Amino acid sequence: MGLIVQKFGGSSVKNAERLFHVAKIVTDTYAKGNSVIVVVSAQGDTTDDLLEKAAEINPQASKREMDVLLNTGEMISISLLAMAIEKLGYPVISLTGWQAGFLSDSNHGNARIRRINTERVENEIHKGNIVIVAGFQGLNRYDDLTTLGRGGSDTSAVALAAALSADKCQIFTDVDGVYTADPRLVKTARKIDEITYDEMLELATLGAQVLHNRSVEMAKKYSVNLEVVSSLENKPGTQIKEVVKVEKMLIKGVARDNDVARISVIGLPDQPGIAFRVFSLLSAKKINVDIILQSIGREGTKDISFTVSRSHRQQAVDLLNEVKESLGAKEILCDENISKISIVGAGMQSNPGVASKMFEALGEANINIQMISTSEIKISVLIDRKDSERALSVVHDAFAI
Ligand code: ASP
Ligand code: MG
Repeated sequence: MGLIVQKFGGSSVKNAERLFHVAKIVTDTYAKGNSVIVVVSAQGDTTDDLLEKAAEINPQASKREMDVLLNTGEMISISLLAMAIEKLGYPVISLTGWQAGFLSDSNHGNARIRRINTERVENEIHKGNIVIVAGFQGLNRYDDLTTLGRGGSDTSAVALAAALSADKCQIFTDVDGVYTADPRLVKTARKIDEITYDEMLELATLGAQVLHNRSVEMAKKYSVNLEVVSSLENKPGTQIKEVVKVEKMLIKGVARDNDVARISVIGLPDQPGIAFRVFSLLSAKKINVDIILQSIGREGTKDISFTVSRSHRQQAVDLLNEVKESLGAKEILCDENISKISIVGAGMQSNPGVASKMFEALGEANINIQMISTSEIKISVLIDRKDSERALSVVHDAFAI
């Protein structure tokens, strides 16, 4: 018995049948004597549909109005789920994000939670209600509606679990846990029973689309007992925690990220301060740079290449073109046909040979590496996009994870 937060994503609540299925999971948990708080996303593709509707009216709509619109998606699912639970004969109440006390900053479209006033939720729990809370929603200091960024309901759930010191936060999805690689792309991928917050954070950031990365950051910060489980099948999922049982596996997973573009600044003068000028320009516009490669200076010139997310590609190229002359660069190039393949695992910190094994697997498959970056628990390489599925499989199988 305890306090449990259960989160259900859009596909888990997409129609009446799924909603009743969720209602069953929730009421079963409640009937065992637990207090249950349920966080839900908008049904199915509702959020995407709302974005389309807005684009028809005004593609330049203000972010404030977009947030008003997007807030409606989660309101549909909280009320419908509450109705389903009422029908099963259990005490239930639905609350919007703002009723549940989610206070955020004013960064419309990608707001951060500043604080949660948990009083209302706690009162409802004390009354014996199952509490259904809209994920994704926040309220800023001017009482305007905000949203927490795509996929943000995971973060709503973890934040609520942290604020209430819940015993457990379960994220229900249509997969049965976190996998060593995307099972749709790598046949030998298998479910991971346990993973550390840091490893999960890397995988989430690298595009393993199971959890919103901010939810993992928050779970780590507040030591939330987090679990990813299937909403379709009743079986154990993946536990995410600080330390995991010692396993002999070095590598936890392999991930592919297609949201990358490589920009190269060619023929820069080989002088001090040049890299600073290039990157300060980008950081002033909040363009996040990932992998960076600078060539050795030759005949007084050098090249700098780096990656950015695809949405920042054009802006970065335009900025650099504006200063091309004053930087003394010859050319700005951009390549979008690339993918980033990464291996993640806390075990690699203390084990030499992990990188070479990855490179060997890629070499044997005749896949060219364009750039490399490493951290304590991650190695990423940039390769041609057309090789990316093959790369995932050969690297995955090289580590037999
Ligand atoms: N409905 C929102 C979205 O699709 C939030 C979420 O699903 O977590 O991005
Ligand atoms: Mg969604």
